[in-house]
Amino acid sequence: MCSSLFDDPAAVAETISDEAANSKPADVALLADLASANRILFKQGVVDGFGHVSARHDKHPDRFLLARNMAPGLVTADDIVTFDLDGRALNANGRAVYLERFIHAEIFRARPDVMAVVHSHSVAVVPFSILKGVPFRAVCHMGGFIGICAPIFEIRDIAGDASDLLIRNSELGAGVAKVLGDGNVVLMRGHGSTVVGDRVKQAVFRAVYTENNAKLQAEAMRLGPIEALTAGESETTARVIDTQVDRAWDLWKMQAEGRI
Ligand code: MN
Repeated sequence: MCSSLFDDPAAVAETISDEAANSKPADVALLADLASANRILFKQGVVDGFGHVSARHDKHPDRFLLARNMAPGLVTADDIVTFDLDGRALNANGRAVYLERFIHAEIFRARPDVMAVVHSHSVAVVPFSILKGVPFRAVCHMGGFIGICAPIFEIRDIAGDASDLLIRNSELGAGVAKVLGDGNVVLMRGHGSTVVGDRVKQAVFRAVYTENNAKLQAEAMRLGPIEALTAGESETTARVIDTQVDRAWDLWKMQAEGRI
């Protein structure tokens, strides 16, 4: 798998004593949803041993919640750490954290409307990050949120031509956020993609259907020229489908919990 080529080495957390973090803990339901999101994304094949999903802190908009450095499929609420927008862990208590937390930090800083972020190396999407002249775009109604062309972050523009392709600091994270702009999906050349949402469930839904859309687009392109959604169709389908997110979430959550 492509993702096996990419390594997210652990970073030791810089722990900052923060009384406010303890006095205003995140909502228990949000932490539970974020743990479920990790497990769902694993079951749906969006993440494997790597990749991560975050949520903006419900009481501190300048903070976000992200699991400690571990495989997403194993995350529980107790594994979730609070970070500030500089990527500093506030309550890691010595636990290792994800190296690429700066993707989340800088998108939350740049986009007040974003409440959740998924970063993955989902394998059907990666080819579109390296193809020249073929935009990744919505080709079916479930992928309408992708729009008519997902932008591609080129790390060489910031880090030169000998980087490890990982988003290992705030400058690189800000670069990803800038290329994302006001969109919902950004591809990262030779690495993966990052998807945002206005809530955890929406971000998870979009991450799953970003992967599905990539499979469909690639398969169609093998058969012949393709007809993609227009900008108007993308907007309309995204708005309509967004009302149905809970239906998929409820199913995927039960599946991830082994109840069906
Ligand atoms: Mn990565």
